Order: sequence, then structure tokens, then C-alpha cells
Amino acid sequence: MPLKNSQTLKIYNSLTGKKEVFKPINVGHIGMYVCGPTVYSNVHLGNCRTFMSFDMIFRYFKHLGYKVRYVRNITDAGHLVDDAEDGEDKIAKKARLEQLEPMEVVQRYTLDFHSILEKFNFLPPSIEPTATGHIIEQIEIIKEILEKGFAYEINGSVYFNVAKFNETHEYGKLSGRKLEDMIANTRELAAQDEKKNPQDFALWKKAEPEHIMRWPSPWGDGFPGWHLECTAMSTKYLGETFDIHGGGMDLKFPHHECEIAQAEACNGHSPVNYWMHANMLTLNGKKMAKSTGNSILPNEIFSGENSILSKAFSPSAVRFFMMQAHYTSILDISNDALLASEKGFQKLMDAVGNAEKLPTTDKTSSFDVSVWRQQCYDAMNDDFNSPILVAKLFDAVKQINLIKEEKETISKTDKKLLSQTINDFVFDVLGLESKNSIDETGTDKLSGVVELLIQLRKEARENKDFATSDKIRDQLAALGIQLKDGKEGTTFSI
Ligand code: AMP
Ligand code: ZN
Repeated sequence: MPLKNSQTLKIYNSLTGKKEVFKPINVGHIGMYVCGPTVYSNVHLGNCRTFMSFDMIFRYFKHLGYKVRYVRNITDAGHLVDDAEDGEDKIAKKARLEQLEPMEVVQRYTLDFHSILEKFNFLPPSIEPTATGHIIEQIEIIKEILEKGFAYEINGSVYFNVAKFNETHEYGKLSGRKLEDMIANTRELAAQDEKKNPQDFALWKKAEPEHIMRWPSPWGDGFPGWHLECTAMSTKYLGETFDIHGGGMDLKFPHHECEIAQAEACNGHSPVNYWMHANMLTLNGKKMAKSTGNSILPNEIFSGENSILSKAFSPSAVRFFMMQAHYTSILDISNDALLASEKGFQKLMDAVGNAEKLPTTDKTSSFDVSVWRQQCYDAMNDDFNSPILVAKLFDAVKQINLIKEEKETISKTDKKLLSQTINDFVFDVLGLESKNSIDETGTDKLSGVVELLIQLRKEARENKDFATSDKIRDQLAALGIQLKDGKEGTTFSI
């Protein structure tokens, strides 16, 4: 299929620290790997932001006509608590606490992950492999790294020898760290530590008798180190060198640094041409993270049941909020920001509806649609600059409103091009859903009805008609809708 846009697309490559012209290995094809969730708890909105950034990137590539193989894994083993080298597996710990089989934990939170992503209108990846489904591949890579002399076995565990690797390769090139500095800044190994150096990381860990997630290996029963699964799955489905590897900024070190080291040790060359890192979603100025309690779940936002926001917000309003920031910028979520996004999204949707019904002229258009359309592409071609794209879409909103009021004109051909371009970028690329499909979830309509009842109750109270105001409050409560009276007015939660 011919590419829709033959112009140059630039991507910020975290490995070189530069925006580079994107050249896929195979013309018209893209291989993209993104680290998926560790399925031991519900995904919070921060996790969703990273996956949404890559969903938008995937969508744009597809829109341009590329055939994309997008692999996003599920981490269902090997990720230890605190991302450290020791300690319990996150999934095993949750299984112990909830008295479940580890695979029950995995199933529960994988389903949650999928249901949230569906609400946010994500496209499914081409392949969604799991770590536990690729234990054999991981063992094979360890054997290869051992054979090449970049790892050592000790007491049934295998560790990657970072110092040895660094003699012939550059450990730290992605995160900009130097091994000498890392060594200078770390404490001596504790006497009981079996690693040769603190920087060494586990490829395989011996399973103690109480460790329930375990597999047989040439080194005895154990489980793979977290970094290894992504090397195994990306190599299996995308090859020894592929186009794009993505993930959240917090995965740059050690996770992605270790992935590079493993692949280079095993195959002798760099695994990835473009490393892409999405920035963090913050709440109250701090990174959203489950472990610190500084987080909000998507369903808490959709239902309004949370102590942070004044009302419920639809998935599209939240998605629009995310798209208004560049994926490499930090984004702070707040009630005011969401309210503003909801308003903006509504304005955009109204214009989308109006674009189809605009009056046309036989003369030339007063708005140069082709130039504007090109500007939309230019925004996305500049490292997926969605905030600039949104600004361009609002330029069109302004024009649509002027044409509607007959202050500007548009030709029939341009009207078609305008509608087509808006639809392409709003729905296909940004992944927003039209008002109708939000209504299908009921969120928007219900909010409108409750707001109306809140207004009627306020009027009843002002008229001292407390029988009516109490009736509204009590009957809403009976339906599971709680009204909260505060200084700023009345809010509700469902
Ligand atoms: P995890 O389930 O912890 O492995 O994380 C899944 C993905 O979410 C990773 O790509 C993380 O980088 C990303 N992530 C975690 N916290 C945030 C946050 N506050 N904002 C954006 N992305 C995040
Ligand atoms: Zn990974």
C-alpha cells in the first residue's frame, strides 16, 4: 500500500538524544516493541498514559500506511518488588496476600488491563506475549550469554557480568551513566551477596523452596530475571534488530539498559534502532505510582468515585487531556485541567458534527484547507507532536464556526477534504471517540441529567421547598448517586 505521506517523519531517539529522520529497516514495515504492564494490580492512570502515547504512535504509523507489527508484552513473572535484584516476585507476593494462585492474580489483572484499554479506545497490539509463555526462549538466551563469557553461574542463579561486558561494549549508553560512576556510588556487596559486583543483574534466580513461581532449568529450579523476558520476546517476534522499542521514562535504567546489554552480549549487535520513552503522569506534582498511594484508577475517574476530582469524566475527555501534552513532557493531572479538557473536547466534537453540514460556495474557499491539512501532518511528523496537532484542529474549529455563520466560505471539494482530515486525525490518529459513542457508555448523558437535577434541587431550596429538594437527594441516593454539598456548590459521585 502506498504511504499516505511521503514526507519525513522525525523521532526523538533516547539513545542518541537527537530527533532523527525515521527510516524503517524494511520499507513500508515497522517492528515496534513496548514494555507492557506487570499484572499484579489494577493499572493506574499513569500506566495508561504511557500505553496511550504508544497507541497514538501506532495509530499514526498505521494511518500513514505502514504495516506495523506491534508487540506489547504482559509481565506475569520475574518482576521483583521494588524492581530490586532480591526480594519477592510482585505477582507471587500478591498471590500470597490474597491467597490465590499466581495465575489467578495474572488473569484478574490482565482482564482489568484489557477492559480499561478498551474503554480508552486502544487498538490491540499485533502480539501480546507473556513472560511465562517464553521461559524456554529465556533459558536459551542465558545459555548463549554464558557461552559468550558475559555471565556466571553461582548457587543455581546466573548473573550478567556488567564489568566484563563493559570491557568491549558500553554499559550505560542509553541512560547516560558511566560504569565507573556507578561503582563509585554503590556500597560494598554484603557478605551474603553472591554477585561479583553490585552492578551485575540476574538472568536467572534460584527459587527458594517457598518460592511458588518456578521452572526447571539447567541450573536447577528457578525463575527468569525481569529484564530478560523483553529481550526474549522482542527477538522472537521482531528479530535481532528491530525499529522501535518503547516504554515509560522510568524503564530507561536499569530495565532497558540491561536489555541492550543482554542482546549485545548474545547477538553481538545493537537490538534497536530507535528508543522512545514516554514521560510520566504526575498527581500533585509527584509521579503517579501505586506503591506510594499517589494514584488514581481509570474507573474511579469514569464513575466519579474518588476524593480528587469534583465529578466523573468520560474516557474520551481523559484521552483528549492526555493528547494535549507531548508524550515526552511531564503531565500533571488536576480537576481544573480535566474540566478544561472536557470543555475543549466538547467544542471539538460540536465542530466535527457541524463540518458535515457546512454551506458551500461555488467560488474559492476563504480558508486554505490543503495548507492546514499539511500543517496537521507536519505536527505529527515532528516526533508525534499531538499538542500542536490539537492546536491545528482548533484552527479548523474556528474556521468551521465562521463558515457556519457565513463569515467565511468553503468550496464543496474543500469541505470534503476538511471533514476527511478532521476525521482522520481526531478519530483514527488521536483515537478519540465521537459524542455518540461516549453516550453509549452512559457517562455523559447521565452526568447531564444529574447536573440538571442538582440545579432543580438548588432552585427548590432557594424557594424553601425542602420536600422537593430532599426528594431529589433521597431518590438519587436510592439509585446509588450521592450528592455532596460543598463551598463550591453540589457535586456528585455514582
Ligand atoms: P509496570 O506495570 O510497573 O511495569 O509499568 C507499566 C508501564 O507504565 C511502564 O512503561 C511504566 O514506565 C509506566 N508508568 C508507570 N508509572 C507511570 C506514570 N506515573 N506515568 C506514566 N507512565 C508510567
Ligand atoms: Zn520490558
